[in-house]
Amino acid sequence: MRKIGVLTSGGDSPGMNAAIRAVVRKAIFHEIEVYGVYGGYAGLITGNIKKLELGSVGDIIHRGGTMLQSARCPEFTTKEGQQKGIEQLREFGIEGLVVIGGDGSYRGAKALTELGFPCVGVPGTIDNDIPGTEFTIGFDTALNTVIDAIDKIRDTASSHERTFIIEVMGRDAGDLALWAGLAGGAETILIPEEKYDMNDIADKLRRGNERGKKHSIIVIAEGVGSGMDFARQLKEETNFDTRVSVLGHMQRGGTPTASDRVLASRLGAKAVELLLEDKGGRAVGIVQNRLVDYDIIEALNEKREMLDLLNLYKLSQELSI
Ligand code: ADP
Repeated sequence: MRKIGVLTSGGDSPGMNAAIRAVVRKAIFHEIEVYGVYGGYAGLITGNIKKLELGSVGDIIHRGGTMLQSARCPEFTTKEGQQKGIEQLREFGIEGLVVIGGDGSYRGAKALTELGFPCVGVPGTIDNDIPGTEFTIGFDTALNTVIDAIDKIRDTASSHERTFIIEVMGRDAGDLALWAGLAGGAETILIPEEKYDMNDIADKLRRGNERGKKHSIIVIAEGVGSGMDFARQLKEETNFDTRVSVLGHMQRGGTPTASDRVLASRLGAKAVELLLEDKGGRAVGIVQNRLVDYDIIEALNEKREMLDLLNLYKLSQELSI
């Protein structure tokens, strides 16, 4: 392989830039040319493709977002859209593509691979919801952003003796809410992977009040539902008054943590290694701090390993009695 491409797609996440940098530098180290596809699959279809040099990725390792921009592109879910993309890649002489993104982006990569164009997926999403890897690029940064917000909200909650409901992102996955809730000392954490009982939550709040607790923090994952709806339901069923804080898109931005930068560098470089070995249709990941690669198609069909998450959930309950 002499020329490869790289794109970022779907929701952006902090650390994507570090991954792009790793792809570019690793490829150039091996005397491979690298092309950046701008604007995700939309840019692939229109041919928004430019050659990247060592300097193109200078001064980006510490920046959030993605220098290649990202986009959602419904046209790419069609065979025609995918064929157009492949034509553009062939026009530039590109023989393999690194796709940095979430599971939607992986589906695009899978489609290209099935059409004979080798792609490697790199997990970039704050949701941590990609099967086959324990961590995705951006999760750690988002987690720290959420904890910072929880700590600040805790100050005001404590001053006013209030119960706060904090809604965090994560799509259908509870990872961000669970890790943030545990690290932020939340009394209650609601994740889509586990059912909750409103009466148990109300009992816990009452017990806390009786013990003289000044405030309570409830963290709810967006996959469970909206924080506002939950607050209304809690009020109706238990008469508890709460304040709701929806953290929103701030969770997707910010300077990537050291951990995300290192992860992104390792995974980006690994993706290039696979393409150099002519291994398309793979996804890279990290399991027990070791780099792994696996079939991207299988990954999409598999369920995520839930044991660690559920153990963590159990621990969070034990520590917040
Ligand atoms: P993420 O990668 O963060 O999960 P999306 O789900 O929005 O984000 O997917 C990003 C893009 O990937 C979509 O806009 C679309 O272009 C492409 N994509 C998603 N699903 C498919 C699919 N089934 N086939 C081909 N391309 C897809």
